[in-house]
Amino acid sequence: MDNVIKIKPKCYFACPLGVDIPEFTSSIARGDFSDAIATIREQNPFPGIIGRICPAYCEDACIREQTDEPVAIRQLERFCADYELQHFGFPQWKLTKDTPKNKSIAVIGSGPAGLTCSYYLLKKGYDVDIYEKSYRPGGTLSIIIPRFELPQEILFGEIQILTKLGGNFIPNCTVGKDIQLTELNRKYDALFIAIGAGKSDELHIPGKNLDGVFTTFDFLENFSRNNLDIKIGGSTKALVFGGNNESVASARILRRLGAEVHLFLPDEMQYFDETKIQMARQENIIVKQSIIPTAVFGEKNRVFSVRCLKVERSSENGKTKIVPIENSDFDEDCDIAIFSVRRYPDIDSLGESIKNFNISRSNTFIVDENMQTNIYGVFAGGEAVNGMSNPFLSVVDGKRAASAIDKFLAGNITVRDEQKETPKEFEEIVIERNNIAEVPRNRTKILAPDQRDSNFREVEISFDEKIAIAEAERCIFDRFHTEK
Ligand code: SF4
Repeated sequence: MDNVIKIKPKCYFACPLGVDIPEFTSSIARGDFSDAIATIREQNPFPGIIGRICPAYCEDACIREQTDEPVAIRQLERFCADYELQHFGFPQWKLTKDTPKNKSIAVIGSGPAGLTCSYYLLKKGYDVDIYEKSYRPGGTLSIIIPRFELPQEILFGEIQILTKLGGNFIPNCTVGKDIQLTELNRKYDALFIAIGAGKSDELHIPGKNLDGVFTTFDFLENFSRNNLDIKIGGSTKALVFGGNNESVASARILRRLGAEVHLFLPDEMQYFDETKIQMARQENIIVKQSIIPTAVFGEKNRVFSVRCLKVERSSENGKTKIVPIENSDFDEDCDIAIFSVRRYPDIDSLGESIKNFNISRSNTFIVDENMQTNIYGVFAGGEAVNGMSNPFLSVVDGKRAASAIDKFLAGNITVRDEQKETPKEFEEIVIERNNIAEVPRNRTKILAPDQRDSNFREVEISFDEKIAIAEAERCIFDRFHTEK
């Protein structure tokens, strides 16, 4: 293996938001946390939120991945946000805005895409009204991410930045019912539709209408709005079927409410984040793999059991598929049964005028390369276009949409907008592999399982200042760049 390697900070190019990672980790290594958070905020409006939910694409590209383990970039980002909150509080943000443009935009939906788009439009000097059907902002951020992963004070605290920038939040207003899209289109210079994917697909299982049966999204939504019409306690037995983060979140919430929880994963490969499954096991959730539901049984209109079937993988003509194991069915009794199904945008809720839009077969908005729908001046993004997806990707969409709307209103929208309009140039550094010492990655502390019982305290604990500096010092690019 060649001992000499040439390096550039690939992390920067891998971050979909364009956060200047070498710059902010270098500030942390110097102990200048205020400088670090200022650098992060240039490209990432919600570091406390994103520092908790981002899949950390940057870490997959980290040079250290080749020697030991990537730098914990996402945790460092989160550390900066938490440090700022602890030491200065949210109101201390230094906010700058471009001169007023005297143009107004209606953003429909205040989930990750709507919030991010609003932030960047406000920064560019536009007037922004944000229409939200719920009484509070946040969308999927407040529904599918449980508060033990994203505390409410962080979520709603960071969102306050929009009101400080002059954003006008209009809660309890359903576009299509309380106000029509056509009216908004007349009133505003541009619209951004970011309604998310808040409608659960039909459950295709007998017994689906019994009381105590929920889809994961409906359960999470009702729970997050204190709207659950079922009492859950120590004698409740809950079954959760599904292999994604939303089913794991539902199981972990039910456990915290006191229920005995069984989580059935349909197939070993389906869940997105293995660490969440590990945490579920630590919390005494019984996790069983390769089991699917086939029917729900009830009495007096209430669920009392679910018929389950074991499945296995089978290969045929080079293709792998999941097949049932003969005579493997069994009934599992329960008080509540939750099933994971696909979510899609509730397009019909937008009323009559929706028939004028080009809508895909998966019930999502069809947009062009600039995120504009077929209706002039009406843009769409996030799950309204992509369908059910990771909330971080909706943040990225919101940022792109703001840039596209800005260009549209300036009259020069022509080519595909790039979020990193002028990527930073980095000098390539030549180093000897032997000079890279292995330094173990620092881990965040995790709340002990017995401390998670019956409460919603955040499970992962932020780095302290000393650990954050030590972790930032692991950055190879910064070290050799500074030594040059
Ligand atoms: S954690 Fe996510 S947002 Fe933050 S720098 Fe990495 S890829 Fe970018």
